[in-house]
Amino acid sequence: MRFASILRKTRNLLNVAGDKRSFHVSCVSSQLLVEDPKYSWLKELGLESDNKGVFDGTWKDGNGTIVESVCPANNDPIARISMGNVSDYNTAVQNAKEAWKFWCEVPAPNRGEIVRQIGHALREKKTLLGNLEALEVGKIAVEGAGEVQEFIDICDYAVGLSRMLPGHVFPSERAGHALLETWNPVGLVGIITAFNFPVAVYGWNAAIALVCGNSLLWKPAPTVNLSTIAVNKIMVDVMQANNIPPEVCSLVCGGSDVGEALANDTRMDLVSFTGSTPVGRKVGATVQNRFGKHILELGGNNAVIVMDDANLDLVVIGTLFGSAGTQGQRCTTSRRLIVHEKVYDEVLDRLKTAYGQIRIGDPLDETTLYGPMHSKAGVHLFMKTIEEARALGGTIETGGQVLESPGNYVEPTIVSGLAHDCPLVLRESFVPILYVIKLEGGLDEAIAINNEVEQGLSSSLFTRDLGNVFKWMGPKGSDCGLVNVNIGTSGAEIGGAFGGEKATGGGRESGSEAWKQYMRRSTCTINYSTNLPLAQGIKFE
Ligand code: NAD
Repeated sequence: MRFASILRKTRNLLNVAGDKRSFHVSCVSSQLLVEDPKYSWLKELGLESDNKGVFDGTWKDGNGTIVESVCPANNDPIARISMGNVSDYNTAVQNAKEAWKFWCEVPAPNRGEIVRQIGHALREKKTLLGNLEALEVGKIAVEGAGEVQEFIDICDYAVGLSRMLPGHVFPSERAGHALLETWNPVGLVGIITAFNFPVAVYGWNAAIALVCGNSLLWKPAPTVNLSTIAVNKIMVDVMQANNIPPEVCSLVCGGSDVGEALANDTRMDLVSFTGSTPVGRKVGATVQNRFGKHILELGGNNAVIVMDDANLDLVVIGTLFGSAGTQGQRCTTSRRLIVHEKVYDEVLDRLKTAYGQIRIGDPLDETTLYGPMHSKAGVHLFMKTIEEARALGGTIETGGQVLESPGNYVEPTIVSGLAHDCPLVLRESFVPILYVIKLEGGLDEAIAINNEVEQGLSSSLFTRDLGNVFKWMGPKGSDCGLVNVNIGTSGAEIGGAFGGEKATGGGRESGSEAWKQYMRRSTCTINYSTNLPLAQGIKFE
């Protein structure tokens, strides 16, 4: 593409409405990291200076804008991407729908074999993809690799599932009749993902949806296009090597216009949306309005409860990773620490010491524990939240500063002295700030505080008392989808279903019976007799 055209398209990007995060579009630089020999490994992932942001059976330059993906550690541009628009989206839907006609008739175990190969290909590129996430998302490389591992794990799970997808046979009350429940793929699954887990969240959806017999259309967050394109290339290569129409794995890198089109589209048989609660609320209402199916994986405001009998070594380790890991940008990040008054001072002191030892630096450096915020918008939100906490009378126990750097670095922060029910504490601020709350009552009061936020994603209780544990897990316990004991709020495994209640959206992905959401259920009654008796003994003669 000519330079003038790139500039024009880039300027147009400023007019794309909807996404709250601004792209790095102030200039189109020719000095891209992908051309720096230090980052030559990016080419092993199929990335170039200019990358096609649409896959609808073939890789295409999108008709949207040209964006640069930037490295949050220094705000240097990594590479350019030609984004898709709604017209690219429409073509991709048509092609993915057409490909589905083939894919849905491939026997499920054979679909599993394709997913096995995808898992194998991801294993081979695990370190490279993890490093790409460090470069583009800003999470430390080991966490990036962990995200790829989640995709690999769910592929393994899906391969097993492909030979076990169940159906039921129920006893019929009518002689000579069989009553069966069968499951068929829903069709086309649209997957809209958030910036902070570009690989794992897509993987949870994709692996299960594929073995269930669906085709996919992925609309990633618009600031993590390179991670997305690299993953989709791996999937497309596997499809092509097996002579499967590769548009089963379609991709449109785009902004909120593409996301809105997808949510509105009656051709989209399931919309799986991961992102913030405000956007999810809109997407959910749009899909519901057309009686479509959706999975919503939205925000969290996760609490850790520390009782006076807790093992405080575990509390410190679990809370440190839960609150400061991924720079507070996990949906499951620990945001509220509710500590029994008897151990409050000790927990706060030990946590402050631990925070002081967090090694902040380049996410690609293996000694780093804590990298930059993903975007400048995250830094601004951090500053605004600290200001608000101070204005409300909160004490900054540690952190609170933006670091002098060309990158998006802020300090991991602990704030005390705010009321558990003040609006700031009740809100999910997607930044590394932990509010510490003194618990003056017992477990019942702690559970009430845990449950008083609008979200219901993850929660942890640290205790050695079995009675506490079962109350916490029971009907009057935590109202979250993830209910942990003596571990932190983040770092879920793929075996169990992942997701949460209330304003977290109610969706479940990954393990357990999450597969059911990617299929439609039919109850089939088959009469193999020569009579036609009615149910409930009704006579119509
Ligand atoms: P976001 O809501 O800003 O964006 C998410 C996705 O929605 C992006 O792809 C974006 O382009 C798209 N989008 C924006 N406007 C849209 C619209 N009107 N219609 C359709 N799509 C639209 O979220 P984010 O900032 O990328 O991610 C952070 C949020 O995601 C946090 O709230 C976090 O808790 C949540 N999250 C939840 C989970 C979970 O599993 N529960 C996982 C990761 C992140």
